[in-house]
Amino acid sequence: MEPSVRHRSTSRAVALTAAWALAATSLTGPLAAQTSSADYTEPYQQKALEIYRTLIAFRTSEGHGQVPAAAEYLAGVFREGGFPAEDVHVFPHTSDSGEAIAAVVVRYPGDGSSGEDPILLTAHMDVVDALPEDWERDPFTLVEEDGYFFGRGTMDDKYGVAHLTATFLRLKAEGFVPTRDLVLGFTGDEETGMVSTRALVDEHRALTDAEFALNADAGGGVYDADGNPVSYAVQTGEKTYATFELSVTNPGGHSSTPRTDNAIYELASALKAVEAHRFPARINDATRSFFQASAELEEGEVAEAMRRFAEDPSDEWAQEVLWNEPELVGVTRTTCVATMLRGGHAENALPQSAVATVNCRIWPGVDPAEVGATLGEVAGEGVTVTMLGEPASAPPSPVRQDVMDAVRAGVDAMHDGTPIIPYQAPYATDGYRFRAAGIPTYGVMGLFMRGTDQFAHGLNERVEVRTFFEGLEFWRAVIHELAGRPVT
Ligand SMILES: [Zn+2]
Repeated sequence: MEPSVRHRSTSRAVALTAAWALAATSLTGPLAAQTSSADYTEPYQQKALEIYRTLIAFRTSEGHGQVPAAAEYLAGVFREGGFPAEDVHVFPHTSDSGEAIAAVVVRYPGDGSSGEDPILLTAHMDVVDALPEDWERDPFTLVEEDGYFFGRGTMDDKYGVAHLTATFLRLKAEGFVPTRDLVLGFTGDEETGMVSTRALVDEHRALTDAEFALNADAGGGVYDADGNPVSYAVQTGEKTYATFELSVTNPGGHSSTPRTDNAIYELASALKAVEAHRFPARINDATRSFFQASAELEEGEVAEAMRRFAEDPSDEWAQEVLWNEPELVGVTRTTCVATMLRGGHAENALPQSAVATVNCRIWPGVDPAEVGATLGEVAGEGVTVTMLGEPASAPPSPVRQDVMDAVRAGVDAMHDGTPIIPYQAPYATDGYRFRAAGIPTYGVMGLFMRGTDQFAHGLNERVEVRTFFEGLEFWRAVIHELAGRPVT
């Protein structure tokens, strides 16, 4: 592959990291150098693997009721690992669907010598369900094959839970005393209602309050197709997900006597207006550095547009180029797009109603109701706009030097010198609930992955064996940098 093509695809891989929740399409690309877990013989490494394997076996998806058991298992692991019972909490909660779930909070007391407030470290125990009959291997058994770990949650997010748990045990066993308190918070319904997430920062705030949070459910590094590190992304903000319905009603009548007003035609016109509407271009710390860094990995017109947009988001030429790039347009503004349509009730009757679903990804900090009002103006008279649910919006977190320095140390422990890029995610995780509650949150994982290995939420989710073990060094270095002496 010629270098220019490779540069282009690696930059897209950066964008893909931001969009991994959208799941990839096909199993392509060469497999990893076939590392085996048997090569990692240190006790902390084998303990991490045991925790990972045990967690994968709990079907912690909605409707299967195993989140509380997974939470109790983890609590037991912490107590056995030397954390006193009074610092290990399992909080029962009830999900939106009425199911018993739980959250886990573990405190690692510091000596207070830094005088700084605690750090919250989070991940989620629940997973999107997986149907065993559709998978090539049992999704609830950790299967190691060809240098990969396969299973539901191998990446999203039992990977994060296993890493944080194993790191706490390892640091404790090493006699590490942090200079400030470290607090683990594991949620039990990130993939659905986030009831346990809200409870963590609401009901249990006395235990979880922190200067900032690190969320092991976002961010991470990208490998090129040959498995070489390209870049590492830190998630500092998330767009708000909001869905609207646009509806038109009409008295209708017999189709042999068409009226001049028609619900389907009116809705169609409204949708064409929505299609043509562009929400204003926006920029913040994270998206500016994303474009600056990505421009270096990109080529031609797109690279130039990234550079110019980072410099001046009102640059119309740059806006236009980025508008035509599906992976990038969402980094420049709020987007809304029609996703579903229904209308009419009989082939020989004039339609009495027509309804379109419009899904929006709203710029962090912008009120979803304001976007709904804009849609109403754009759609015009006679069209009713209804917001579904109660989307919450959260401001992006400022790019902090102490966090970026710690991530630098963590990334260097995996792949020395890999460029680090802050980014804003087009999807939502627990992170936006923490940000909405006033805790700045940074998505970072001890993970590197190829664009072709993105299967979160999809079939045959997998991560490379080597990155699982290398990621343990990431977390140890990050915590030492933020709450201890530099790694020796
Ligand atoms: Zn997740």
